[in-house]
Amino acid sequence: MERELQKLTWTKVQNLVPDKINTILLPVGTVEAHGSAALGTDNYIPEAIARAQAERLNALIAPTLNYGVTKSLYRYPGSFTIQPDNFTLFLGDILNSLADHDFKHIIILNGHGGNNSAMKKAVFDLHMKRKVYVAAIHWWHLVGEITKEHFGEVGGHAGLDETAAVQAIDPALVDKEEYKDEMAYLMTGGADVYPVPGSVLLYKEGEGYPNFDQEQADTYLPKVAQAVGDFIESIINQWKQFGY
Ligand SMILES: [Zn+2]
Repeated sequence: MERELQKLTWTKVQNLVPDKINTILLPVGTVEAHGSAALGTDNYIPEAIARAQAERLNALIAPTLNYGVTKSLYRYPGSFTIQPDNFTLFLGDILNSLADHDFKHIIILNGHGGNNSAMKKAVFDLHMKRKVYVAAIHWWHLVGEITKEHFGEVGGHAGLDETAAVQAIDPALVDKEEYKDEMAYLMTGGADVYPVPGSVLLYKEGEGYPNFDQEQADTYLPKVAQAVGDFIESIINQWKQFGY
């Protein structure tokens, strides 16, 4: 069946929620520079995970929140940012709307690390005010071990893992010809640099550079989606012990 909420009519939603479906997946990302991958990478990956797992989780998919809190990469052409307080309020209103319409399990699939702290505020606020179950999942953290096993090294922002995931969605979303290793910057806890001088952000010396291997990409994304789906299923099962 159709899983995207905005493709359904209100009467279909009325018929489905909450009696037949009570889980909603909300992809959230941003638009920012990603080396030689598309500016919308942080939106496309959580959307793909949501599409891959919605049927198995018996969930609907809310429209993606495509704009987020972009920080050190904001000055790169084509990037957008939302001030953290505005983002918290806006996301909070979306979460409240989902709670008002009787979704019991609200699962944010986050694609962008810059959103994390402002997102956490909105999620915690919802938890305090409403009797719903809510989780924000930061896919690249959740699958860190899978990334190491799959590629034999750690990933990075617009690095090996993220570039592979978006390349698996559509090879046209990456441009290997544009890529140069000089696009990469090794992150250090010793400095905050704005704008950060590379749009591929690496976290371990010599690891995480994109490799543009289509086969590795095509086998990576399903593993990521599966692991995220497994995690969501496990928390929903454990939440059942509360029964509200
Ligand atoms: Zn990203």
